[in-house]
Amino acid sequence: ATPTAIMVGTGKGAEMGVLFRKGTALEMLGKVQTVVLDKTGTLTKGRPELTDLKPFNGFSEEEALRLVAAAEQKSEHPIAEAIRQAAEARGMTLPEVAAFEAIPGFGLKAEVEGRTVHVGADRYMKKLGIDISGTEALVGELSDQAKTPIFAAVDGKLLAVIAVADPLKEGSAEAVAALKAMGIEVAMLTGDNQRTAQAIARQVGIERVLAEVLPDQKAEEVKRLQSEGKKVAFVGDGINDAPALAQADVGIAIGTGTDIAIEAGDVILMSGDLRGIVNAVALSKRTFRTIV
Ligand code: ADP
Ligand code: MG
Repeated sequence: ATPTAIMVGTGKGAEMGVLFRKGTALEMLGKVQTVVLDKTGTLTKGRPELTDLKPFNGFSEEEALRLVAAAEQKSEHPIAEAIRQAAEARGMTLPEVAAFEAIPGFGLKAEVEGRTVHVGADRYMKKLGIDISGTEALVGELSDQAKTPIFAAVDGKLLAVIAVADPLKEGSAEAVAALKAMGIEVAMLTGDNQRTAQAIARQVGIERVLAEVLPDQKAEEVKRLQSEGKKVAFVGDGINDAPALAQADVGIAIGTGTDIAIEAGDVILMSGDLRGIVNAVALSKRTFRTIV
């Protein structure tokens, strides 16, 4: 393609809300064989809502939500926001958090009213040696409904199982179908648990799922796909996604995501609508006259 054609292509991209930050990205996009999508905030809206809460060990629903919401006060995770909002909707006054520690990919630890509260994934509870037996059926059921089960414990004892649901963005399923129709393999990458990830993937039409990936391992997973000889695009929105965006042949950042992700992207999807990727791939192929 001539420099003029590339300029025209870049301009058309901007008109459809796709910004090419790197000159080579427009060309590379048409050569991509695998598109890897982050789940939370990329395929989904990234604004989960609390849907279920089951207390254990004699705690009341009220007490469980109060303690968990208090523990989540200083967390920046979208799950924390969902839990805080549920407490707020019930008009709860939350106790102060004396100490707080976020453990990326696992959950958090907080001191509330002199008690130690842990909140997070099942693997976090297992790591801490907290007994979560008797929750399997409930957790399986929640996960199959595409909800993310969260565990909470007080002083080492199971307090509650909570679930949050994060709906798919409009256009995610359509974008996945269109990419597949172009012969592009689509995969999903997430820190969420295997069964929830599978349920979301089913809804959106993705077969290849990489779940329970720790934040610092996302780039490694992209590298692994590249070592299969593929040109890989990674699409993400979070702070944790920046290394994977940099590692990919084309890093596509969600424009409504974190600044750190946007800075790491070669391409920015301004509105976050994944159908923009499909348009951009088609634009690349047209600009470089690759046969579609
Ligand atoms: P993702 O970006 O895919 O949600 P993360 O690595 O941020 O992945 O989190 C992985 C898992 O760790 C979450 O699904 C949740 O189970 C647990 N987790 C992390 N932070 C928190 C938190 N603040 N509260 C509850 N659970 C959390
Ligand atoms: Mg995300």
